[in-house]
Amino acid sequence: MKYPFLDLSISDPELRSRFAEAAARVIDSGCFVGGPEVAAFETRLAEMTGTEHAVGLSNGLDALRLSLRALIECGRLYPGDRVAVQGNTYIASVLAITDSGLVPEFIDIDPVSMLPDPGCLERVASGGAKAFMPVHLYGRASWNNEIAAVAGKYGLIVIEDNAQAIGAKASVPGVDGKSHSTGALGHVSAFSFYPTKNIGALGDAGAVTTSDPELASAVRALANYGSDRRYHNIYRGYNCRLDPMQAAFIGVRLDSIDAETIRRREIARIYSSSLTCQGIGLPQWDDGSVWHQYVVTHPCRDRFREWLAEQGVATDIHYAVPPHLQPCYSGDYGKADLPVTEHLADIIVSLPIGLPTTPESAAEIASVINMFM
Ligand SMILES: *Cc1c(COP(=O)(O)O)cnc(C)c1O
Repeated sequence: MKYPFLDLSISDPELRSRFAEAAARVIDSGCFVGGPEVAAFETRLAEMTGTEHAVGLSNGLDALRLSLRALIECGRLYPGDRVAVQGNTYIASVLAITDSGLVPEFIDIDPVSMLPDPGCLERVASGGAKAFMPVHLYGRASWNNEIAAVAGKYGLIVIEDNAQAIGAKASVPGVDGKSHSTGALGHVSAFSFYPTKNIGALGDAGAVTTSDPELASAVRALANYGSDRRYHNIYRGYNCRLDPMQAAFIGVRLDSIDAETIRRREIARIYSSSLTCQGIGLPQWDDGSVWHQYVVTHPCRDRFREWLAEQGVATDIHYAVPPHLQPCYSGDYGKADLPVTEHLADIIVSLPIGLPTTPESAAEIASVINMFM
């Protein structure tokens, strides 16, 4: 493909040597679980997000699972409680809820903003849902005045799925009435550093941020066999610790987070200002988004994608089958009433925005797209 969707190989010699230095530091330290690299990463992530605590973890799914388990261990949620989650998310959001003995309450999205529909959220909250998991999908905060008002009115516990939106900002403050950064909007937030995310490790990695010391301690203990000190296990925990090698690699990526966000915003701006082909639907512009994906809609999506592939433009779909229709959930939740989510799944297309796409190649891709009839 002339315009690949994504290529994660690292060819820049400068970047390669920084990763090599980071690896050498870990090897020389003799510390291969926990230790200074993980601690430094945690301090940096907490500072970046404006939270009191960050805990490095094995991956994003574990970050979500442990956030929910910690809420249960701390008596904020009880097994069987319902957690509102938008229908248009990656399966991991929902797996974390069901794995923790909680019940997902799928809510539809607003067809204009593409954010969770505040009316649907209010319906499930007034029906007894105790928590809400906003998923900052495509790098944009799933948080606005209406959503925040419903969360506040019903005292919902807010667990952010921030896997796609490190560094993003919301236009209105979070549950503390102050913070605007994703990762600090709710009571606890889960990050992923899966290689394809905006900040990707060279392997699996994740983290949780929170300003609640009790939740932070519970997540930390749960990730380490449920132990609060050596050979003393207060929870039936797991091993979900962050690998120090990955902590060091993430540090290298974080050095260029601003440049990466600027690159993505510039590409998004080029797409948004130049795509005019008939039938195309553009994402709502959001100044705070970090544009993990640039997702358009087209009524003839499959033909559109095939034609683009013939022109050398690779595209992808995030996500073609929503979680409630996946075989593992369709029995229990397949009848959820999510017309907007289901319609969007049939018409969305993600355009190249990750590396190696540049503003120049994005402009070329846009001219190709505009020739589609
Ligand atoms: C990637 C992702 C996850 C899971 O993160 P992993 O590190 O791959 O386990 C969860 N939620 C969303 C929205 C994601 O995009």
